[in-house]
Order: sequence, then C-alpha cells, then structure tokens
Amino acid sequence: MNTLYLSSQNLTHNYRVLRSKMEDKTQFIAVVKANAYGSALGAFAQHLVHLGVDALAVAYTEEGTQLRALEIQIPILVFYPQIHTLSELVSNNLEPCLYNQTVFLALKNILLHEGRTDYPVHLKYNTGLNRIGFLPEEAEWVFDQIRNAPFQIQSVYSHLAASEEKRPSTLSDQQIKSFQKIKSLHLEAITPQPYFHLLNSSGVFNYPEYQFDAVRCGIALHGYANNAEWDCELRPLGVLKSSICQITQVKKGASVGYDHGWVALKDTSIATLPIGHADGIGRHFGPSQAPVYLHGKAVPIIGNVCMDMVMVDVTGVDCQLGDEVEIFGTHQNASEFALKANTISYELLTQLGPRIVRKWQP
Ligand SMILES: *Cc1c(COP(=O)(O)O)cnc(C)c1O
Repeated sequence: MNTLYLSSQNLTHNYRVLRSKMEDKTQFIAVVKANAYGSALGAFAQHLVHLGVDALAVAYTEEGTQLRALEIQIPILVFYPQIHTLSELVSNNLEPCLYNQTVFLALKNILLHEGRTDYPVHLKYNTGLNRIGFLPEEAEWVFDQIRNAPFQIQSVYSHLAASEEKRPSTLSDQQIKSFQKIKSLHLEAITPQPYFHLLNSSGVFNYPEYQFDAVRCGIALHGYANNAEWDCELRPLGVLKSSICQITQVKKGASVGYDHGWVALKDTSIATLPIGHADGIGRHFGPSQAPVYLHGKAVPIIGNVCMDMVMVDVTGVDCQLGDEVEIFGTHQNASEFALKANTISYELLTQLGPRIVRKWQP
C-alpha cells in the first residue's frame, strides 16, 4: 500500500514562515487548486481556515464548489473560471477573476439576468507571463464597462513569470513596473478602492517589498519555494511511502521490466514496489535511476516504470517483503526527487494519483 503522510504541524510551520515575511496588514490568499496540490483538499483547507487565512483560491469553479460543499465560508477566488461554469460559480458565492472581455461580459449578463448587484470580482492583468489576463492597454475598456456593471471590484492583480529568478531580473522588474502603473490607474478609476497583489510563494521570498496588499501562496505551504535555500526554511508537508511486495534475484545479463529497460551488469536483488506511473511516478524516474530510500539507504529505480509498479535495485541491502520504502519526504524532498526526472515539485505533487492513501496527521 502507498501512503502520503501529511503533517498539519508542518503546514502550520510553513504558514508561519510565510507570515513572518509579510506585514501584518497583508492578506494571505492560500492557493488550494488541484486538490491542494495533490494533498487532501478538505483537511488542508480546513486547517488553513483555522490558521486564519483571509481567502482561498482555486483554478476552476468546480474546485470552489467542492470547498463550499465542505462548508468553508471564507472568500474563495476562482483564478480561471470558464464561461460555462459562471452560473454555478455565482450560485456558490465564489469570487471570479475576470481575465478577458468575453468572461467579463458573460458574467455581467448572468448577474443582470439574476438581478444581482455589487457581486465581488477580481481583475487579472497580463504584465508579461502572456498566459491569461487583460492587457494593460485594456484598462480603459475595463473602466468604461465597470460603470454599469453589477460588480464590486475586490482586487486587481498580476502574476510574475519568473518570481524565483535571481535578482535583478529584467522580466520581473518590467512586470513590477507595469503592475505599479496599473495600480495607480485603478486607484484613480475605481471606488471603493480595490486591493492589489502580485506575489506567489517564491515572490514572497524574493520580492517581499512588493507584497502590496495580499499574497497568493500555494507551493510554499507544502514546503517548497523553487530554491533550495528558501526550501530550508520550510518543511515538507508530505512524506510518500510504499512497501516492498516482491524480491527477486536476477543473474548477470537478465533484463528487468518492459522492453529490456534495464539489464543487470552483475547478479542483482530486485525489489518491486506497488506504485507506478498511474500513481504519478512517471516514466522519467526509471531511466534517470532516481533514488528512493530503504532503511535509510538510497536505492535506484531501474528499468521502465510500469503502470502499477516500479523495480528498485536493492543489492546489498538487508530487506524483506513488507519493508517500508520512502519515495520522498525526509531523505530527499519532493523537489529533489522531481528534479531527478527533470520535473518540478508542482508536477510531481499534483500527479499523485487517487490510489495513494492520504493520511492527515493532526
Ligand atoms: C497557482 C497560482 C499561484 C500559487 O503559486 P505558488 O507558486 O504555488 O505559490 C498564485 N497565483 C496564481 C495566479 C496561480 O495560478
């Protein structure tokens, strides 16, 4: 069986580290999209509410609906609401981020139709990530439209494309400058005054002086901030463990796994673990021989990762069926393990599949 142990104490620690970098008046928006980065949405979100975060944020409407079903009452931002979900969004009292004219007008129509006024919304500007958001040049269009839209603009924000990049970063500096301009335009044009925000987790570490009125943190709550030095201040929330379900001795020259993915250069002990690419341990972990930890020793994943299993070379390590193997957590964190397969903590964590049991540790 595979278990992801989730430490609420470490979540508290990570939250406090982030808060310590923020001014008291700065609001904390905790980002819990994608099942709270692959952890356990309900317990994670409830713990954050208990810690006193000001709002939660998700990517899509359905995720916000899930949170409301858990009876979470605090504001919930939806970063990327899709047009066909806007009625659901309104009926769950979720706060959409409006990122282009089409979404803006679609929401306006729904609210007018329902006779709603002063509905809380957020405005997203594209200052250089070039993914989603109004362009700075569209601010005038927004100001014109707001006059007779049933909206209350809660906040205005943008998102850095490389917040972890070593300073000085030309791109980040440009984005900050552009956002400052957007801020002053909106302060003049919108009443009551909205609040402003720009930083994600790495941004809080790298640009604390640009925290404006709020920050939006996700990955740092899980113990990662895209820089080994910053990671040191945080604690990994999750420890992923599996256990040996078979041990096989193979002779020199034998191949292991599909398509002769690995060939023994000498007589070898192979342990098989019941976790595979269907659980989020992707195929790149095989050829890179990423280590996992058995009785505190690094043992490499070998061969091609199967859908339901991986094989590890345990030659010389005293072990038996049922012995626990740590995939990531204490000996190597998720970010270090992810790097072995050329990916990042975000992808590794959010890919962890539903067959892995989540154990929330209060
Ligand atoms: C996911 C997301 C965040 C959180 O980023 P982290 O790097 O996980 O802190 C913040 N803002 C937006 C717009 C996001 O989509």
